[in-house]
Amino acid sequence: MLPRGEPPMSFEEQRDRMVEEQLKARGLRDVRVLAAFRKVPRHLFVPSEFHHEAYADHPLPIGAGQTISQPYMVALMTSRLRLQGHERVLEIGTGSGYQTAILAELALDVISIERIPELLATVKQRLADLGYLNVQLLAGNGSLGSPNHAPFDAIIVTAAAPDVPEPLLEQLAEGGRMVLPIGSHEAQTLVEVTKRQGAITRTPITGCVFVPLLGDYGWPGP
Ligand code: SAM
Repeated sequence: MLPRGEPPMSFEEQRDRMVEEQLKARGLRDVRVLAAFRKVPRHLFVPSEFHHEAYADHPLPIGAGQTISQPYMVALMTSRLRLQGHERVLEIGTGSGYQTAILAELALDVISIERIPELLATVKQRLADLGYLNVQLLAGNGSLGSPNHAPFDAIIVTAAAPDVPEPLLEQLAEGGRMVLPIGSHEAQTLVEVTKRQGAITRTPITGCVFVPLLGDYGWPGP
């Protein structure tokens, strides 16, 4: 609740506060990532009844039983990709398209795959309205990746898998990075996977809870 007489914060002010209190205060320092979070209007990626909570420190429902992740989790995963601006990025789990827009701010181009067609239709219009031209949205089972667009300098999976999907490892470029949650349905570990001279290294980052990655190389689904 705002104190009586205090004007409501603009969405821009709410974004600045989110960056200060949720991202910088937890140690995120990449200036390009922080600038992207100050710029992308997160409230346009959630249903209108949640506009007032769009910049709060938690995930929100986006319909079809899916969620937009907590801002800090989106920022943490994005930071671990260490994007410089020249990369081709693959995202699995488009959801609301918010993470997609953040990636589009930071990389050369983004391929994003979503298995629920109605989510994808909304995101397509949303990203077009916001002027993101370096994004390609694909419908389908993202655990198979997109061999036609591979190799990818960076891969981000925003749904939880039982293990690193083998096709995604194959489609990761030499020197590339992947970030994804791995574990059970109830709880996972966020993991950074790198490929150097063909050798794969996994580094655990933190505990997390994501909706499941469904389909081949994920969990059995409808
Ligand atoms: N990155 C999203 C955002 O910013 O709103 C949040 C994604 S939500 C936590 C996870 C998404 O993964 C859901 O939209 C779900 O439908 C999708 N998903 C689950 N399994 C998938 C699969 N095999 N291929 C593609 N998308 C999948």
